[in-house]
Amino acid sequence: MIVRNGLLALRHERDFLRRDFRVGPDGRVAEISERLAPEPGEEVLDARGLEVLPGAIDPHVHFDEPGFTHREDFLHGTSEAAKGGVTAVVDMPCTSLPPVTTRAALENKLAVVSKAAVVDYAFFGGVSGHTAEESLAEHMEALAPDVVGFKTYFISGMRTFTRVTHDDFGRIVRRGAALGRPILLHAEDLDCVTAAETRLRKARGTDAPRWSDYVGARSEDAETVAAASAAALARGNEEWLHVVHVGTAEAAELLAAAGATCETCAHYLAFSAEDFERLGSSLKTAPPVKAPGQSERLWDLLSGGAISFVTSDHAPAPEEEKNTGNLWTDYGGIPGTGTWAPYLYSEGLLGGRLSLGRYLEVTSGAAAERYGLSERKGSLAVGKDADFVLADPGGTTVIEGRTLLSKGKITAFEGLRLSGRFLATYVRGRLVYDADRADRDEHPICAAPGSGRFLRWGYR
Ligand SMILES: [Zn+2]
Repeated sequence: MIVRNGLLALRHERDFLRRDFRVGPDGRVAEISERLAPEPGEEVLDARGLEVLPGAIDPHVHFDEPGFTHREDFLHGTSEAAKGGVTAVVDMPCTSLPPVTTRAALENKLAVVSKAAVVDYAFFGGVSGHTAEESLAEHMEALAPDVVGFKTYFISGMRTFTRVTHDDFGRIVRRGAALGRPILLHAEDLDCVTAAETRLRKARGTDAPRWSDYVGARSEDAETVAAASAAALARGNEEWLHVVHVGTAEAAELLAAAGATCETCAHYLAFSAEDFERLGSSLKTAPPVKAPGQSERLWDLLSGGAISFVTSDHAPAPEEEKNTGNLWTDYGGIPGTGTWAPYLYSEGLLGGRLSLGRYLEVTSGAAAERYGLSERKGSLAVGKDADFVLADPGGTTVIEGRTLLSKGKITAFEGLRLSGRFLATYVRGRLVYDADRADRDEHPICAAPGSGRFLRWGYR
């Protein structure tokens, strides 16, 4: 196939370049040139007037399968991802049952989800408090070939995936460094959070809790203290430490200064704690969005490179779990894999907050490198997988929960009008998502369940 006349977003170029490119029968980019002539019978796709972006990589999703599929599953999750221009995801180990802390659990999960995925996918392994007690080294070594990192928590609300102690964490980072896999951390300090929550709930007495109580319990200090502890415990191996979903600029700054990496999420860039009054639990995540002013600082850190990339932390839940009548028990997680890249395209690239180069890094290039996938993923280049998105910069995207392909329909971004529109998503040269079909009220996913490919560290 030849894709003609598109404006290509090529890594390390300052601007879009008008180029043709050819996709080989192996699904890889075979040739990029100013002008390509089709061979007899070769399919030609005219992308005149459109921007051709590398497929986004969402390296932080909770697709919940097997185990919590009433919230999400791989077919719905990867379909929603494709709708949002995502061609590869990395799924978290903590929200499947059994959690992916052992080799057997990984094989079990792979057998189930490999029949469902419509975009490519990799896994994180997990180290929970349970595995840390048992046989940390043995489990990590057994998982390492098939995972692109290990996820840990300093505080966890899940009985099925408990936190690790600071003592465990130091050992886990050393082991991750020896195995050559990043250690991912949910960084909120247990002591800060539990003490503040107890104090705030007591002060509220029998009155209804307020969102300011939740935000106060999961404070900016809790995040900064945890990030500082993690950097101290990782001393000597800081480059293997990666902190997920950072909402506090100070935490991101200290991690960058220490030589560790971090990510933020679209919701931390788009909202502040004041929005809880309007949005309620549709905005509830852990950590929560922070005080007004943090998002501006996060944009600056993202633009400057101190924050490596953006993820969705996609974690939807049904109405009965999202709205329990008590904000303390409402599910803390929101969908996002289908909205984060359109949001960044609109507010980052078209809105002028991110250069083209940074946009490409934060949506695909940097994550591919961090997780050992850059040989074949993360940019549009000869030899790499032909993962790409056709985007109309003059179009408009309106986010509506009812049109999400995820099982979760409750989105904090409800009603948001974005500049630009993603028209089609291709994975290894195959059309997966087609907006034309959606416009005709047809199901917009063209790929068969199971067509997504499992990616390992060093995929080539
Ligand atoms: Zn998460």
